[in-house]
Amino acid sequence: MGKAHTENGGDNLIGIIGGGLAGLSLAYHLKDSIVIEAKDRVGGLLRSERIEGYTFDTGGSHILFSRDENALKELVNMIGSVVEHRRRTFIFYNGRFIKYPFENGIYMLPKEERFEILYDFFMNYVKRKEKPKNLLEWFYYVFGRAITEKYLKPYNEKLWKTDLRRITLEWVGNRIPNPPVEDILKSCVGIPTEGYKHQLKFYYPLEGGIETLARNLAKRCRVVTGERINKIEREDGVFILKGKREYICDKVVSTIPIDVTAKMLGLNVRLSYNPLTVVGLGGKGDLPDFHWIYVPDKDIVFHRIAFLHNYSPNMAPEGKINIIAEVSGRAEVEDVIEGLEKMGFDVEVEVAMKWEWDYAYIVFDETYEKVEEIRNFLMENGIIPFGRFGNWEYLNMDAVWIKAKELAKVL
Ligand SMILES: Cc1cc2nc3c(=O)[nH]c(=O)nc-3n(C[C@H](O)[C@H](O)[C@H](O)COP(=O)(O)OP(=O)(O)OC[C@H]3O[C@@H](n4cnc5c(N)ncnc54)[C@H](O)[C@@H]3O)c2cc1C
Repeated sequence: MGKAHTENGGDNLIGIIGGGLAGLSLAYHLKDSIVIEAKDRVGGLLRSERIEGYTFDTGGSHILFSRDENALKELVNMIGSVVEHRRRTFIFYNGRFIKYPFENGIYMLPKEERFEILYDFFMNYVKRKEKPKNLLEWFYYVFGRAITEKYLKPYNEKLWKTDLRRITLEWVGNRIPNPPVEDILKSCVGIPTEGYKHQLKFYYPLEGGIETLARNLAKRCRVVTGERINKIEREDGVFILKGKREYICDKVVSTIPIDVTAKMLGLNVRLSYNPLTVVGLGGKGDLPDFHWIYVPDKDIVFHRIAFLHNYSPNMAPEGKINIIAEVSGRAEVEDVIEGLEKMGFDVEVEVAMKWEWDYAYIVFDETYEKVEEIRNFLMENGIIPFGRFGNWEYLNMDAVWIKAKELAKVL
């Protein structure tokens, strides 16, 4: 181990562990900080790789949208040149594509099925009594049996990989579209509507994939890459962050998974989360003009595929296609290709890559109860937890940005 890296020490220096969006957004809003990132490049989940003319977002499909106009504007400005889109997103349901969210796509189903959904929704609505206590009960309570069993249950079981009765309602908030009754009724009688409206318009970088956002932020921050912190010590009122070198800081914010930070300080905890495999495929094919597709089908390995060549024309060579498939858990490239075939897509693959992430989806099961305790433990030790995994919260990019601004003010 090298000597204390005194160049980085100094009055009020804030050490930020992790150079994903959380670490970078916070550093951007602070005066004196240093971001220490384990990998050779910043970005975390916002990484993109260019391979033979194809740019793949290796952490899955990332688009920029927000209810907060101000945050959205600031993030778009940070990217620079963007492409603005109106969402074209579908669900692969019983061999056909229906518009997302499912309850807004019902109008595309046969009459008999629309009636079945309407009848179920109505009967459930008039009988609603006990408040739901878990995710599965919530689906039945809000949407009725037909929508739950046709789409929400199979899709969410595939994503969460657990019995949905184990998932608490902590995370539901604005995450799952909770549509107005009027929309469902309209859709059932055949009138098109739009749901999850704050995502209907979204932005995407014109060049470089989603990593452009991280790269542009990093240009405005002090960042060290290729430096994995594996120990945090406190001595004479300062913190020493230990990796290959040592970083002396007055305050520490950790954006790396909260269980990992806790372990560095001697607390062993087990939290539930699902890993993610992203498979990127470049080549030729005749694909619909969609942005992404949700796939509830149990026989198909991925739960979502995104057509990145429709996000920006620069994501693939002219006339070529760029697909990323997201699998909750682990899978092989061949499984994804097989899944595409099952969906009826004929793709001539020229480039195939796979990326694996350990932390992707926090599972809000009974282990989540411990999180507050872990946060308090870190704070008692002077470490501020922050970020999607850092503070164990279900945060999208806009929420990370907003919270970074708030935290910077406090610091
Ligand atoms: C599949 C998927 C799709 C998503 N799509 C969207 C979307 O469309 N729109 C949207 O707004 N949000 C989306 N999100 C959410 C978005 O990815 C997160 O809000 C954001 O990336 C969280 O950033 P973070 O910095 O908290 O975490 P991370 O990106 O995980 O960053 C943590 C960083 O810490 C580093 N690190 C780990 N251990 C150490 C160590 N010991 N020392 C130093 N560094 C370390 C890691 O290498 C990493 O760079 C999506 C998330 C997923 C999983």
